[in-house]
Amino acid sequence: MALINCPSCNKRISNKAKTCPHCEFVIAGRSGDELEREQLRAVQRRKDKLLSQSMLALLIAIAAFAYTFLEQPYPDSWQAKVSYGLMGLGLIWFLVNRVRILLLKRGR
Ligand SMILES: [Zn+2]
Repeated sequence: MALINCPSCNKRISNKAKTCPHCEFVIAGRSGDELEREQLRAVQRRKDKLLSQSMLALLIAIAAFAYTFLEQPYPDSWQAKVSYGLMGLGLIWFLVNRVRILLLKRGR
């Protein structure tokens, strides 16, 4: 028994499995072509998800930055702490997502 990657969710499964135990993708009876196409679709799905997540992260960082810039809360107020926190969080989340997209493109 060998381990392969599920073409749909990319988790490790047995090459004898008829369906993926993680995502219930049916493997049995499919041609190599079909499996390859499903794999491409799955990569595209993951990339789309990461892209929208990184856009959301960037939006949060920009919103927090705009708030700090326009409202100029006192440095010690909770408003300032929250917006600095969101700025940092948004930027880190954004960078993490960019790295994940790069790794995905390289076909990790
Ligand atoms: Zn799967």
